[in-house]
Amino acid sequence: MPANDAMDKLVSLCKRRGYIFQSSEIYGGTGSVWDYGPLGVELKRNVKDLWWSAMVHQRDDVEGLDAAILMHPRVWEASGHVDGFTDPLVECGSCNRRFRADLDEVLAGQCPVCGAKDAFGEARSFNLMFKTFMGPVEEAASTIYLRPETAQGSYVNFLNIQGAARQKVPFGIAQIGKAFRNEITPGNFIFRTREFEQMEMQFFVEPGTDDEWFERWLEARLAWHQSLGIRPEKLRVHPHGPDELAHYAKKAVDIEYEYPFGWKEFEGVHNRTDFDLSRHQEYSGKRLEYIDPGTNQRFLPYVIETAVGVDRTMLVALVDAYREESIEGDERVVLALAPALAPIKAAVFPLVKKDGLPDVARALHDGLRSASIPSFFDLSGSIGRRYRRQDEAGTPWCITVDGQTLEDRSVTIRDRDTLEQVRVGLDHVRGWIRERLDG
Ligand code: ATP
Repeated sequence: MPANDAMDKLVSLCKRRGYIFQSSEIYGGTGSVWDYGPLGVELKRNVKDLWWSAMVHQRDDVEGLDAAILMHPRVWEASGHVDGFTDPLVECGSCNRRFRADLDEVLAGQCPVCGAKDAFGEARSFNLMFKTFMGPVEEAASTIYLRPETAQGSYVNFLNIQGAARQKVPFGIAQIGKAFRNEITPGNFIFRTREFEQMEMQFFVEPGTDDEWFERWLEARLAWHQSLGIRPEKLRVHPHGPDELAHYAKKAVDIEYEYPFGWKEFEGVHNRTDFDLSRHQEYSGKRLEYIDPGTNQRFLPYVIETAVGVDRTMLVALVDAYREESIEGDERVVLALAPALAPIKAAVFPLVKKDGLPDVARALHDGLRSASIPSFFDLSGSIGRRYRRQDEAGTPWCITVDGQTLEDRSVTIRDRDTLEQVRVGLDHVRGWIRERLDG
């Protein structure tokens, strides 16, 4: 399927089923900002919960943090963002639109919008941070930034957390939170947006052990992606060459995914050395060294960072799950999301609206919900239509209450992917689903 078609179909499914809407759509939309609807918000929560569970709850050596979006403006001078967080920008002399100078079309000398040839002016640096003012006076002294990454909150809290949690190096700080970048050429749906959420973990290690920890974290992150059901052949690792390395990095790799628009970054794993801690030490005048309790040695730890977008993970999960299938002449669109990611785990249908079937189905639905299994009750339309709606929503199991239920208290459970149907006792449905969710 051509890239544009594949993305258009996904965007349209996401709107139709209430996953993702354009921000402020009735006003014509806000450039590259998206809103998550009823199913989108559930998928988003599942992504974040699974990351948090793997990175914080299942480890003794990573602590959580939720730092504020607004930070002291000196933070961004120390981090290098005020001077260096820029993209090269060019303007087309014909249509006056602005683009990143490193876009393929621009490098080839052609305007991606009006097609004018060699009409670009000089490239200039464009800072990607959003600026605003803090307090009632709009002046340079009160300038503040919306954070472009969550990482800095972890660095400035390094000693607070190490002391409060009584952690010893090596240990990490994990955060999930919003970040903002005034991207020049955003796009590809939720791939590159101006407001997004990041899941970042900074792991503080003794210098000299950094290479080994880098490899361990890269492996752990690849394993996590696969645990979400992402097809392994769609993932690859791209190490940064010397010309790609960020100013703070000793080594960096992108975990890439093959999107309909090509292989592009999914997650970054970086060896940030002691760059950030040493800069904050210098700019704040406060010592940020760790004192090894065994040797009493003072040192600034090196940092291995794993950084992935929540929205980007959602895009990968949706792209990877989207299938168009023809089953015995019937076309269907299905989102084969891993059950742990699926917003709705089970849909309950009474086969017909009579003979008391809706009451039995409703009781089953209520029982699932009270067992914290997100369930959806649907009695409208033919059973085929109800299945198709749930296939598009990504619901792994559809449960039908029918005439036989009244005789032997059993229901059918239909598997979204294999279409197999099994009969399960009404009282066992909860356990049956829980087993598959937890297994
Ligand atoms: P790029 O070079 O593509 O702009 P980056 O290398 O600057 O991205 P990082 O700073 O390493 O990205 O950010 C870590 C992760 O945050 C990325 O791997 C991606 O998953 C996510 N991310 C970064 N920028 C955006 C954005 N504008 N929209 C959505 N997600 C983003």
